[in-house]
Amino acid sequence: MPCYRCGARQTDPVRGASPWKRAVRREAQVLVCPDCQRVHDLDLDTCASCGSIALICRLGEIECRSCGEVRLARAGEPLVTAGSQGSAPMPGLAAEVEAALDRVLGRS
Ligand SMILES: [Zn+2]
Ligand SMILES: [Zn+2]
Repeated sequence: MPCYRCGARQTDPVRGASPWKRAVRREAQVLVCPDCQRVHDLDLDTCASCGSIALICRLGEIECRSCGEVRLARAGEPLVTAGSQGSAPMPGLAAEVEAALDRVLGRS
């Protein structure tokens, strides 16, 4: 995932903690590169309780990593999570597998 602001790509991870920060912007998980972290007008969501930008977005919830507050993401937003697409089996695949198994096992 590139930096949401400048589009920079994360380089090979250095030893230790990554300088890249995870944050939430408009209730979507984003990554902020070290350069952009120095900018002060970052358009990021903040925790309603403590004002921290150290939020993580998961499964319709936004959790603050500073104070632990969890709130629901806005209702009605389409939930698009990375990796959730393309996992649905293609129709007819099961039948194809079944037929292949039959051939291998000498059934039919
Ligand atoms: Zn950046
Ligand atoms: Zn908080």
